[in-house]
Amino acid sequence: SKSSSSEMVKAIVVREIGGPEVMKWEDVELIEPKEGEIRVKNTAIGVNFIDVYFRKGGYKFPLPFVPGREAVGVVSAVGPGVTGRKVGDVVAYAGDPMGSYTEEQILPDKVVVPVPPSIDHKVVASVMLKGMTVHVLLRRCFKVEQGHTILVHAAAGGVGSLLCQWANALGATVIGTVSSEEKAAQAAEDGCHHPIIYTKEDFVERVNEITSGKGVNVVYDSVGKDTFKGSLQCLALRGYLVSFGQSSGTPDPFPISDLASKALFLTRPSLMHYTATQDELLAAAGDVFANLESGVLRVRVNHTYPLSEAARAHADLEARKTSGSIVLIPDN
Ligand code: NDP
Repeated sequence: SKSSSSEMVKAIVVREIGGPEVMKWEDVELIEPKEGEIRVKNTAIGVNFIDVYFRKGGYKFPLPFVPGREAVGVVSAVGPGVTGRKVGDVVAYAGDPMGSYTEEQILPDKVVVPVPPSIDHKVVASVMLKGMTVHVLLRRCFKVEQGHTILVHAAAGGVGSLLCQWANALGATVIGTVSSEEKAAQAAEDGCHHPIIYTKEDFVERVNEITSGKGVNVVYDSVGKDTFKGSLQCLALRGYLVSFGQSSGTPDPFPISDLASKALFLTRPSLMHYTATQDELLAAAGDVFANLESGVLRVRVNHTYPLSEAARAHADLEARKTSGSIVLIPDN
């Protein structure tokens, strides 16, 4: 299955670092898949906060680039040397390479996973990156068990929503921070036992009250700059701070001696380092799909936008207007 020549497809292109307005809807050239590659026609594309970091230049990537690191779609061509994959297969990927905000893209065959046919594509595009991240956070960085008490920041967000659901199912007591009443209600529905509206209450004080001064076993902190110090204060003796994002900015440097008062642990994981081998990738994706099928994960696709309007999705995400996950749908 070879296509005769290159063709043009529509994609979002970033030519300069900046606000959402730097994301332009352009024609890009799509070449044939080479050795070990496949071509995928995207049906749903996940929006993740990491896309904002790259667009703003906090994370670096050579310009110009097509943003995005997660999509589901249908295989439209198979390059030489690829076995076990054919045109028409439904596949998904999350992580590397960059470039999913496009109608159609070339991917190394080894980064994709087959998608169970029963699952809606918008749901798949919501759980590949976010769901595998939750698998890493709850099962690998720190193993949450029955009886643990945990603190989740941005508990109504894309990752946060799934994190609350999964942690609750593992038997943890879940405390979560959110910015509004609406988000608190959503987090509660997702199994967050104690939503804290941080715009109204001091989260460190509330965690102290809720845990009768004991603190939590683990904090999952994706907010970064605004929460990092407080997160350390919320931890129990020998607690774990899992700092996995910086939606509010990079946390300030701090002395290692700050960990000494309670013999704390600190880790700064990234999904790709836990899905470095294909076995790890398939295990992570498999765990997510199994939890979807069993009903532990109930994905909230709260926002869909046409792919051409990706800039609007970013503006809303950065303004804290969104909850649950955001998906882009190719325009045709
Ligand atoms: P979210 O849906 O969680 O969106 C971000 C949320 O963070 C907002 O809705 C908001 O919730 C909260 N927030 C707090 N302060 C700010 C701020 N200053 N600006 C914007 N938002 C703020 O996004 P995702 O689910 O896509 O990602 C969540 C986090 O997880 C990100 O930090 C991301 O980088 C990280 N991540 C890390 C991975 C890794 O491998 N390390 C993998 C995947 C995600 P509220 O209104 O309640 O304050």
